[in-house]
Amino acid sequence: MTETVRETRAAGTPAEVVARARAAFDSGTTKPRPWRVAQLRALRTLLVEHELEVAEALHADLGKSATEAWITETGFVVREIDHTLRHLRAWTAPRRVPVPLSLAPGRARVVREPLGVVLVIAPWNYPVQLCLTPLLGALAAGNAVVVKPSEIAPATARLLARLVPRYLDRSAVHVVEGGVPETTALLAERFDHIFYTGNGAVGRIVLEAAPRHLTPVTLELGGKSPAYVADDADLAVTAQRLVWGKFTNAGQTCVAPDYVLASRATLEALKPLIAQGIRSAFGEDPSQSTEYGRIVSERHFERLTGMVDHDRVVTGGRSDASSRYLEPTVVEVDDPDHPEQLVMRDEIFGPVLPLVEVDDLDAAIAFVNGREKPLALYVFTSSSRVRQRFTRDTSSGALAFNVPLAHLAVPGLPFGGVGASGTGAYHGEHSVELFSHAKSVLSMPTRPDTTVWVRPPFTALKQQVIARVAVPGRRRRSPAPPLG
Ligand code: NAD
Repeated sequence: MTETVRETRAAGTPAEVVARARAAFDSGTTKPRPWRVAQLRALRTLLVEHELEVAEALHADLGKSATEAWITETGFVVREIDHTLRHLRAWTAPRRVPVPLSLAPGRARVVREPLGVVLVIAPWNYPVQLCLTPLLGALAAGNAVVVKPSEIAPATARLLARLVPRYLDRSAVHVVEGGVPETTALLAERFDHIFYTGNGAVGRIVLEAAPRHLTPVTLELGGKSPAYVADDADLAVTAQRLVWGKFTNAGQTCVAPDYVLASRATLEALKPLIAQGIRSAFGEDPSQSTEYGRIVSERHFERLTGMVDHDRVVTGGRSDASSRYLEPTVVEVDDPDHPEQLVMRDEIFGPVLPLVEVDDLDAAIAFVNGREKPLALYVFTSSSRVRQRFTRDTSSGALAFNVPLAHLAVPGLPFGGVGASGTGAYHGEHSVELFSHAKSVLSMPTRPDTTVWVRPPFTALKQQVIARVAVPGRRRRSPAPPLG
């Protein structure tokens, strides 16, 4: 273990925890780059040393396989740490900007300063990634942080609450376990930024709490992310990738393709290919596959099984309540706008994939634009014209061609929603920008005193200088406005 390892856990009421984080930030310890680097390295050590325990917790909460846990959670955060460590100096260095001639020889810089104390409220579906990626971004920017993991993934929440204080600076980084009462108590405190990931209903509660202290809020929400399959798509590869995107983590992924849009002919061609893709990923009986996850809670299991219309199942549909297993399921939808069409009402957030027929490209774009702006929009096509149309004519948090989920793995891309799918974005440099303030710093020598040219009295000479140098663009001298 590293020298940053500590043995005791942070404890106390939410108010006491926030007060300790505030005191740590006010002491200035979190600001120097060496502290930030040490925290990121310690977090990396935590993940590497406890990879197995983390995988066990994720298996207990969500039935994730160890490999999936590494790809989408532990390894994801490790890669994000490495990328951040590589670029932190450049991202946080003061940036010189040119000053106008009238302010020469002044010097202007943009200085990134940490915000203060950041609250991270995380959901249960990727409980490691969605706690630790915002945490490491906020630490990289020099903040103190309070993290509230989801109580719906209790094994992971417990593990993080036990391990984080052993590795990270216990005065500045805190994990608060609990559910609604604890989150409500935290939201009553003053933070300098609230970073919330989860559903939109709680997002509204978070937003309502923020004005009390004028706290800026990032909302990482969800919604229905469509996948349009054009007639010219490579259907064999498309089907495999749709299966991967939809059934990873048993569909409990905010950027999973929620439903498929395609022409009747393409849907008919896709059906057997998707069924085959499910078999090749998870075998004839996915309940026996160690690679296939489980539904997180009884409530979500009931919700998901209740939305499957067994008369319209293309493949799948079997379930087992005792193990919260729901087979990868594909259903056909005839009337997506019918109010009783449950699979098309809200985000599915589980292993049910509706197939919806649209006539053509224009109809697909109209379908997408007729609904809330999605977190991700996927288009499978080999046509640059189709790519251009979707890029120009739709709005979404992200737009990806021929591959679902993968945009998260591009560290230079901002990750976030737009409209109902969220506000604000993070990952890599975008995290450092999100969790810091770009402070304008202007420094003028007192001599020569060039401000004399823009100070009254405005003599004829000064007016000429103002028109030519200080505030150029003013062509004619206007008459002096009447006084009073
Ligand atoms: P959840 O139930 O775990 O809730 C998220 C957090 O909000 C938890 O920490 C919980 O304790 C807290 N919370 C719940 N109710 C609260 C209340 N009444 N007051 C205060 N705090 C409360 O997770 P969830 O919302 O079910 O997560 C799933 C949703 O999150 C989906 O819509 C999914 O699309 C979205 N999501 C988005 C992203 C993203 O990055 N944009 C990532 C993952 C999940």
